[in-house]
Amino acid sequence: MPRPLSPSTITSDNGNSGIKSEWNYHPPIPIDNNPLFSWPIRWKDTLIYYRDSWLVVSEGTIFILLAALSWRFFSPEIESVQKFDWSWVGGIWLRNFLLLLSVAGALHYYFFVRKHQKTDLKYVSSFMSNSNRFLFKNQLWDNLFHALVSGVFFWSFYEVLMFWAMANGHVQLITFQSHSVWFILALPTIYIWIAFHFYCVHRLLHIKFLYGRVHAVHHRNIATGPFSGISMHPFEHLFYFSSVLIHLIVPTHPVHIIFHLYALSLGAVFGHTGFDALLVKNKKRLAIGHFHHQLHHRYFDCNYGSVDMPWDKWFGTFHDGSRDAMKQIRASRKL
Ligand SMILES: [Zn+2]
Ligand SMILES: [Zn+2]
Repeated sequence: MPRPLSPSTITSDNGNSGIKSEWNYHPPIPIDNNPLFSWPIRWKDTLIYYRDSWLVVSEGTIFILLAALSWRFFSPEIESVQKFDWSWVGGIWLRNFLLLLSVAGALHYYFFVRKHQKTDLKYVSSFMSNSNRFLFKNQLWDNLFHALVSGVFFWSFYEVLMFWAMANGHVQLITFQSHSVWFILALPTIYIWIAFHFYCVHRLLHIKFLYGRVHAVHHRNIATGPFSGISMHPFEHLFYFSSVLIHLIVPTHPVHIIFHLYALSLGAVFGHTGFDALLVKNKKRLAIGHFHHQLHHRYFDCNYGSVDMPWDKWFGTFHDGSRDAMKQIRASRKL
């Protein structure tokens, strides 16, 4: 999810948490949620949060650009997709396959192959592992397999379904000219919807029956990498990408649907890279990692949602990274 870039430069510990030994690096703690949902609403903080998320180079603005380019140059005409046909269906699958390979591949090459940033701003000091718990006994190959085979399939499945639904009048379409305010507001609203949907789906996946059979595939990854983002069991992909079905009810533009799917797929790639930000000349220039979700990979029964909506706070599963939060989570396990 888009996350405001902290103005601080590189430090290995911010000196306010006492959990230095557990992390190679962590952002300022305690981490916060979207202030829009605070009460009374912190209007100034909310404006700063959205300004720093959407009026700068961020994963959100990068995905808007990619969605616009994909819609303009690499998508079929809506009128031509009333019937399923391998030419346009295959085109969407190929575009998504190449996009995931390029974006996650570039991040993997920069941070994990060339190690340009060493372990600066890396949450955990270890890189990827070749443990027996992974398919092919290799984390990278395991992640590549689940992400590129099943992940791209379900991502494309939902996109094809939505294009077909648009072509056959099952989706109410808007244009920028007809609904310019909603056209813009829909973009950050998609992230709030994703946070709600992901929280619900994710809590279900942590029920013992589903965790062992389905979600454990994703949780093999403790030290994560870009391809870990959508390295999931096919059933999890089916649930996870179903978030986009909201466009069957809410009027939007095809760009919103493509953007929504990028937020789910490429957003997870960014979020699992495991580095808090891209450093250029020792300054943070692009927020990448999602420490909120990294805490979930470390402690499991906390932070099921994202910072865009405080479901975890409301339901007592929020881990803000502090020792106090750790104590509360441990106490709730003993109940
Ligand atoms: Zn994850
Ligand atoms: Zn989980």
